Amino acid sequence: MNYPTRRRRRVRVLSRQHPNRQSLNPAAFGGRTNTRRAFGPKSRSMGKARLLIALAIAAFSFISYMGSKEFNPVTGESQHIGLAKHQEIAMGKQSAPQLIQQFGGLHPDPQLQDVVDRIGHKIVQSSRAAETEWAYDFHLLRDPQTVNAFALPGGQVFITYALFEQLRTEGELAGVLGHEIGHVVARHSTQRIAKENLRNGLTMAVILGTGVDPGAADMAGRLISMKYGREDELESDALGVDFMADAGYDPRALIGVMEVLAGAAGGERPPEFMSTHPSPENRVGMIHSAIEEKYPSGVPGGLTP
Ligand SMILES: [Zn+2]
Repeated sequence: MNYPTRRRRRVRVLSRQHPNRQSLNPAAFGGRTNTRRAFGPKSRSMGKARLLIALAIAAFSFISYMGSKEFNPVTGESQHIGLAKHQEIAMGKQSAPQLIQQFGGLHPDPQLQDVVDRIGHKIVQSSRAAETEWAYDFHLLRDPQTVNAFALPGGQVFITYALFEQLRTEGELAGVLGHEIGHVVARHSTQRIAKENLRNGLTMAVILGTGVDPGAADMAGRLISMKYGREDELESDALGVDFMADAGYDPRALIGVMEVLAGAAGGERPPEFMSTHPSPENRVGMIHSAIEEKYPSGVPGGLTP
């Protein structure tokens, strides 16, 4: 997904709000025009200066990335992040309106919005997700065609109406939301952004060294179209199982979600979810394992399906 008309403005706003990120953002260097003006092929000394700056940027990007390690108490992992939690929350909130607009706005039915909101918050409050300080917010998007769900950094969670209407039980909705809460808690997008910034910093160094500018990316667009790795998806499934079960939902409902998605794949509206997530068939086995780990002597009765 591209956002060509808003690209320049959005990048500038983000740079201003997150001064720490500025030096790692190619846009902060002034883009194509300024780069050419400052580092045009004028003289040998200019070329040498350019190379030194390129090396400095490469070194700075690498040191910033390596120095950004942070422990995640819920997943038990050490992650490269490079963003303070309040910055991460602000980044998600700032990108939310653009994402909502992209999917036709919020769904107009307040009762359906309420269902998504209530179940989302119930999962957070009853699980280890409550130990985190993210500003959780749950939204039903109007889009009747795109079968998908998203999480922005900091706690903004979205599900499209096209996916919502195909879910058969409250537990299945809890499965989708639990999975997305998993992405938030595990800070998957932010971790990817840190990696991307390292790559951008190194790319910037190459640009200065070679004079080639591949263009700067828009942060909101990047967040929305971001693909998590397979490991991230499986981790979110496992976290989703844990969170939804603690909130009183039968975690086997997440397998039901995979069936819905697999069914939709063969139908007239192949889910967008497929292009950003591993195939549902591949995930079912891992979800079974996560359920066994949660309940070694079997899933107890009385959970909401
Ligand atoms: Zn996911």
